[in-house]
Amino acid sequence: MNKEKIWLSSPHMGGKEQVYIQEAFDTNWIAPLGPNVSGMESDLEDYLAQDVFVGALSSGTAAIHLGLILLGVKSGDEVICQSMTFSASANPILYQGATPVFIDSEPETWNMCPVALEEAITDRIAKGKKPKAIIAVHLYGMPFKVAEIVAIAEKYQIPLLEDSAEALGSSYKGQKCGTFGAIGVLSFNGNKIITTSGGGAIVVKSKELKERAIFFATQSRDNAPHYQHSEIGYNYRMSNICAGIGRGQMEVLDAHVALRRKAHVFYSDYFAGIDGVSVLKEPASDWFSNHWLSAIVIDEKKTGKSREELRLAFEAENIESRPLWKPMHLQPVFEHYPYYGSDVASKLFEDGLCLPSGSNLTDDDYLRLENVLDVFFKSQKI
Ligand SMILES: *Cc1c(COP(=O)(O)O)cnc(C)c1O
Repeated sequence: MNKEKIWLSSPHMGGKEQVYIQEAFDTNWIAPLGPNVSGMESDLEDYLAQDVFVGALSSGTAAIHLGLILLGVKSGDEVICQSMTFSASANPILYQGATPVFIDSEPETWNMCPVALEEAITDRIAKGKKPKAIIAVHLYGMPFKVAEIVAIAEKYQIPLLEDSAEALGSSYKGQKCGTFGAIGVLSFNGNKIITTSGGGAIVVKSKELKERAIFFATQSRDNAPHYQHSEIGYNYRMSNICAGIGRGQMEVLDAHVALRRKAHVFYSDYFAGIDGVSVLKEPASDWFSNHWLSAIVIDEKKTGKSREELRLAFEAENIESRPLWKPMHLQPVFEHYPYYGSDVASKLFEDGLCLPSGSNLTDDDYLRLENVLDVFFKSQKI
């Protein structure tokens, strides 16, 4: 049996990446600026919406950090953040010396619970501090409850920072994820839906804000012949080489989304026949997920099996799977910050597993996955 590793999500080149990289070498644009950087930005602007402006950056984390700076988040401020997410959603709050306030998930999309969000906002205001921003995340590519979250943000006039790092290619009511917040964030890390080997982007609604983001990302240089600085700067721009990879990847983005969605159909069909396992699914037709990662929740009472046993069964066959994001309010580094909600996110973390979902899974890979599942769930088949 072929025991080559099957990854959760691995880079998948489209073919044209090296052409753009070669161009960068041929024209000596080996720098954190150049035609590929501008090209990647306009590719993304064209892809996302008519009225958005994109700044290409060194990472999604950098985009979140600059987003908070653009929203005026400073030391002593409070910033609301979805608890169930990757730590990179929350770390930049601390970079700014601000305090995170974590929010539970709702069970349908696994993202920020609108009820807990509103409870947190009213309670923080009652305690004397209105939150400065809301960071909501489209986990695993699944759009959060956009209508509800945006309505609450508008009701209390708190800007939304939309962490769309996992959701490039997803949409809600036909509008692309990354375009709902005052600030949108994308990531092109190696395991994301497309990659630049490492990189990210900030999505904003005006040319001025884009220029401001790039100003901070390039060391906040004032307009002068010498190096003059009136503000703290960062070195957060994307390299023209990485952007070359990104331009090639943009050409295959929709094709790769289709392949991730195919992986999701494979798992949905498979687990339809297993009592006690549910797959993360679009709750209604307003949702379109890129299904960056397909994920399941195992009801141990029904199946008699834990997600950890399944993870180990995959591992024995050299197949990578991974528990869902451990909520931030349970992380040693964040557990002393305020948290609103109950135990939806923590239960998902206990029982949930992300499954191999790459756009580069082969027919042989699918057979190996099916074999592991068949053996593991043989007594649960309906
Ligand atoms: C990957 C990711 C980030 C960070 O992006 P990087 O490009 O790795 O810095 C932020 N938020 C979420 C939800 C992510 O999955």
